[in-house]
Amino acid sequence: MSKYIFVTGGVCSSLGKGLAAASIGSILESRGVNIRMVKVDPYINVDAGTMSPYQHGEVYVTDDGAETDLDLGNYARYTNSPLSQDNSITTGQIYQNVIRMEREGKYLGKTVQVIPHVTDEIKRRIFKVGEEHGVEVTIVEIGGTVGDIESVPFLEAARQVAHELGREKVLFVHLTLVPYVVAGEYKTKPTQHSAKSLREIGIQPDILLCRSKEELPLDLRRKISLFTNVDTESVISAYDVKLVYEIPQAYAAQGLDKIVIRKLGIKCPDRDLSAWEKVVETYKSATKTVKIAIVGKYLDLDDSYKSVFEALTHGSIANKVKIDFVRLDSEQLFEELDYFKQLESVDGILIPGGFGSRGIEGKIKAAAYARKNNLPCFGICLGMQVMVIEYARDVLGLEGANSTEIDPQTKHPVISLLEEQIDIKALGGTMRLGKSYTKIKPNTKLYKIYDQRMIYERHRHRYEVSNLYSKDLAAAGLIISGVTEDETLVETIEWPNHPWGVGVQYHPEFRSKPIQAHPLFKSFIAACIKNE
Ligand code: GLN
Repeated sequence: MSKYIFVTGGVCSSLGKGLAAASIGSILESRGVNIRMVKVDPYINVDAGTMSPYQHGEVYVTDDGAETDLDLGNYARYTNSPLSQDNSITTGQIYQNVIRMEREGKYLGKTVQVIPHVTDEIKRRIFKVGEEHGVEVTIVEIGGTVGDIESVPFLEAARQVAHELGREKVLFVHLTLVPYVVAGEYKTKPTQHSAKSLREIGIQPDILLCRSKEELPLDLRRKISLFTNVDTESVISAYDVKLVYEIPQAYAAQGLDKIVIRKLGIKCPDRDLSAWEKVVETYKSATKTVKIAIVGKYLDLDDSYKSVFEALTHGSIANKVKIDFVRLDSEQLFEELDYFKQLESVDGILIPGGFGSRGIEGKIKAAAYARKNNLPCFGICLGMQVMVIEYARDVLGLEGANSTEIDPQTKHPVISLLEEQIDIKALGGTMRLGKSYTKIKPNTKLYKIYDQRMIYERHRHRYEVSNLYSKDLAAAGLIISGVTEDETLVETIEWPNHPWGVGVQYHPEFRSKPIQAHPLFKSFIAACIKNE
């Protein structure tokens, strides 16, 4: 039977609870513990699929096509916990199911209430993951900050789990902030208050992860211990690190894994974090830097392209270089010549996925620049569609060629919806989502990169390269290097006579790990180094 670790957050949001939860997962895995990861999001949306990247960062997609919180991407990068729609729980899903059961008369005339009906449904979802065969520890990250109205039912459910299973089977880890104030001192008061808020709802934290600029001195940890009833050794200093993949080591160095396994009574081998140590060492010892432009529209928020940035970093580590990211706004790129000139100094361009027409012409212009200047160019999803539009306009001479998503009236809809999708009106759940296979053609760059004929990746898009144009595009030289398993749809393209121009309709960034960089990102960075 699984034991449970609930990870909560206090003081303020964006302290990196996801990274903390994922890092705890990775240290436990390094000791051979079979773990599962669950994210609870207190918002009322059923999933992250309908949310703007401005609101919520990237939408992370699982093999089974769930559109989830970006923290699942963190779990995927740090752990081997299988991830599916079961691992992402939202208030929307909980209420949807409770209301469905109420309509079906399943509550037999009872008044349906937050406690016990909503909390029971939350526990059912958590136990569904924990009770999978052989799971030893389930780490449940509760989104939001303690004190938020929205988190209350989830915290209450967590309290009930501890009460039902027994305190020795459940651990509460609380992440807080220890700010460094103007007077040059660390302040522990917010942490004291945050722990107090948890106690008020019946949860005594077992471990505190205290975010701070630098490692917290022992006297401060003692002080926090005194005010929070958490032993000093369990007040862990979660200080800022250069590379987020250092976090597991930073925690382990303070004995976090030992505390967890002792408190939960787990018997397991010693930890082996050598793979993580190697990642960090390689990153830190890299002396060379490549300059990569990301041409998108949410560039003030790295979270919007979270997995892309991470996968590029993995690719750089695999090539023993560092990356200097140049974030370019595609709208500005189109409009301002001086701004566009920044492309002249980069070693490669990545055009990520996206929705809607804003900034599209700038992306097309960037693709044209890369193609004509032999600059490595990696197009992902919308980025690949952009590479096709540019090729159709410039090489095929199809003036005004476009995607019907951008220009429904275009004379040359080289990217369009599949016939049968045209009637789709609802926004949620109408996309090609999740795992699907791609057949790779031999003698292509893609084949060299993957070294396999059949691969699978994850999708999240509505539009496709139109089959009314794919033959003409191929006749004009565009290499269609990958197609769907049934060979009906274009999955990947390559520019002919170009050092590295690859577009993929899927999202390879979701499957890249620091310990094992995705081959496409590794190859792209290698091409950028050559170009340097
Ligand atoms: N908007 C495009 C489509 O729906 C691309 C989606 C994406 O980049 N994820 O096909």
